[in-house]
Amino acid sequence: MKYIVVTGGVLSGLGKGITASSIGKILQARGFRVSAVKIDPYINYDAGTMGPYQHGEVFVLKDGGEVDLDLGNYERFLDVDLNFDHNITTGKIYRAVIERERKGEYLGKTVQIIPHITDEIKRRIRKVAERSGAEILIVEVGGTVGDIESMPFLEALRQLQREEGRENVMFVHTTLIPIVGVVGEQKTKPTQHSVKELRAIGISPDMIVGRCSEELTEETKRKISLFCDVPYNGVISAPDARSIYEVPLIFEGQKVAEYISSRLNLEHREARWDEWMEYLNSLYNPEREVTIALVGKYVKLKDAYISHIEAFTHVSAALRVRVNIRWVDSEALEKGATSLLEGVHGVLIPGGFGYRGVEGKIMAARYARENGIPFLGVCLGFQIAVIEFARNVLGYEDANSSEFVETEHPVIDLLPEQREIDMLGGTMRLGEEEVVLKEGSMAHTIYGTTRIYERHRHRYEVNPDYIEELESAGLIFSGTDTTGRRMEVFELRGHPFYLGSQFHPEYKSRPMRPSPLHLALVKSAVEYSTRM
Ligand code: GLN
Repeated sequence: MKYIVVTGGVLSGLGKGITASSIGKILQARGFRVSAVKIDPYINYDAGTMGPYQHGEVFVLKDGGEVDLDLGNYERFLDVDLNFDHNITTGKIYRAVIERERKGEYLGKTVQIIPHITDEIKRRIRKVAERSGAEILIVEVGGTVGDIESMPFLEALRQLQREEGRENVMFVHTTLIPIVGVVGEQKTKPTQHSVKELRAIGISPDMIVGRCSEELTEETKRKISLFCDVPYNGVISAPDARSIYEVPLIFEGQKVAEYISSRLNLEHREARWDEWMEYLNSLYNPEREVTIALVGKYVKLKDAYISHIEAFTHVSAALRVRVNIRWVDSEALEKGATSLLEGVHGVLIPGGFGYRGVEGKIMAARYARENGIPFLGVCLGFQIAVIEFARNVLGYEDANSSEFVETEHPVIDLLPEQREIDMLGGTMRLGEEEVVLKEGSMAHTIYGTTRIYERHRHRYEVNPDYIEELESAGLIFSGTDTTGRRMEVFELRGHPFYLGSQFHPEYKSRPMRPSPLHLALVKSAVEYSTRM
């Protein structure tokens, strides 16, 4: 088993996750079996209870794990399905150790960070490595070196290298190279300081990835190599890229895989890039373009909707259509800025929680319904469209979700099995579930099959009491769960494309296999734009 540990220095948000995914990709392109783990040093047990402004999107795995969005990047780059175990948090580690202590498994001992916490960290990393069946495990450490929270993890990884042998564990440090001054000099000092911190805890980086707005100059590379004691070809330039999917090729061009192979004694293998290059080529050469409004309340933080952005990227390549996302703040719609929706070729309302901004989303759903604009509602977006329809077509003015208000017409209501739940962490209807599509429906045509598997994350659903009435007015439920009682997909009779899903198709979207519903939305948007 080989481990590649990726740490970050100087600043957070440097694209450490993309660096880690790209390193994984260049090794996978050589036929190595690669998997990835993300360490998040926060105390939360998982990402599920954090708001998007804290954390960006909460990514949902097949097994229902609510995890850091970097796991989404690994799944998309490596085309694998990861388990909840692949996200290690301080919360998970401490909970396990404290539970063991309560059982009396450490009887007589003082339980301490070293060795008990660090042992648990190593145990989990090794277990994931073993279970994944990979030959190479990428271990990304969240946060920045020097954070108090990440200390036990870095210490554990230092120990891991000692125990597994230097030829089996290497460290990659991602840092920022700012450009300063009138002459635009690339500055290496922050990198030197950050490497010094790493050394102070006993870790010597084997490779330094310098994030910079431009390519690192030879002089910068030499300086980093000298001051940070890393071989010259272990200093890698990571300039801003046009697309994150180009980063593996940028690394390939600098012989990163060769360097890693020699450092970890991996056998030499030829890389295959044809499919990936073709994908990038399609992405970079669109033949037309459309504009899709993404209506949400976290539009100031694009990371909150990253899986949707990526799904549209995958669709772009598949259809050779550039998708411009127009970020529409649902609260601005409430204040009357309806012009924000003018001229769009499609509308997407993604998932969400809480009442803030909901009325603006309802306005957007109505606008798309009444004007024949292609529409996709996902999870909360699906529920919003049902509320809008109940209000403006069925005439129930107070129709709403019982998540938001008490109303006489709760067309969206709590899932029956949720009534007894009082713990909010990890208790939603989560993860992959089978969905049965109606023969001959639009959803059936889009997916090409009547049995699909998609990921979920919700507590509320369409209230069964209203289904008949909604359907007789034209909102057809064309997808249900296997019992047939829970609504999963609707489509609107007489509208070119007005569809919602209770599940999240964006989580399973991959470069070579875009989300079918995003694909269908963009196809309809193209048709709509030619009719305009
Ligand atoms: N808040 C809604 C629910 O819990 C929708 C959730 C979501 O969009 N992920 O059902």
